[in-house]
Amino acid sequence: MNKHINQLIQIQEMEIILRENEILHKNKDTEETANEILANIAEMKKALPDEILDILDRISSRYEIFVSPMINDTCMGCFMKLPVAEAIAVKNPHQWSVCPSCNRFLYADDKPLSRPDDSVAHYKGVAKFSSLDLMTRDLKSETHAGVLEEMARLAGEEEFVEDGAEFAKALLHREALCSTAVGLGIAFPHARGVKACGLTLAVGMSKSGVDFGDGETVNLLFVSAVPTQASMFYMDMVSKLARYFGKQENIDKLLECETADEMWKIMVKIGR
Ligand SMILES: [Zn+2]
Repeated sequence: MNKHINQLIQIQEMEIILRENEILHKNKDTEETANEILANIAEMKKALPDEILDILDRISSRYEIFVSPMINDTCMGCFMKLPVAEAIAVKNPHQWSVCPSCNRFLYADDKPLSRPDDSVAHYKGVAKFSSLDLMTRDLKSETHAGVLEEMARLAGEEEFVEDGAEFAKALLHREALCSTAVGLGIAFPHARGVKACGLTLAVGMSKSGVDFGDGETVNLLFVSAVPTQASMFYMDMVSKLARYFGKQENIDKLLECETADEMWKIMVKIGR
């Protein structure tokens, strides 16, 4: 991948984290974290040529996703098929390119995986991104890293993500930027740019609770793999989850489930 496009992806990632923090940590003072991220963004921008910064300025006010994957020679931002020469240019690591139609920066990506089941067609809301196979009632691990690895392995084994170990690494990396625990014993660990069959949500429960740092003990984990083009779906899904599980009675309902089936019955109703 072109190095400038790589830097732009990192900037985009940071900006998305800023917005996520607003959704997830509404009741917490996160100004310090936000300032740190903003300083990071400013530093990364210094490494970009003026020509790219000009385009970035123009399009970042218009699009939340300003670096888009190109899959099958099609821009995933505006879904236009690129002319052959332009599509070849996107694949050339020695240059950077923008979509001739929407002006987003582009990088070449592979086709997403296809889902191991077709249940998705029947569901609406949150359940569209998840599956009964991704519900786990008793996490064995008792550490922060351990539960993330356990959940990532499950997503890999169930073939919702290509590589469970890579997914775990990405989750830990994201968690190191700032914790995804949001209080009330729930956390939303997630990783972007993971090869998965679209946005994927796995739900894990730990009866004894896991220490997420900062005095947060987490009982419920909503773990997501977020391919870049699904970033906005993720924001939407996570706000629905945050709203639903902002109520203690709904948390209790899930915690009281005795089987994965019961958990799934609750999950399919959210955001419909
Ligand atoms: Zn486009």
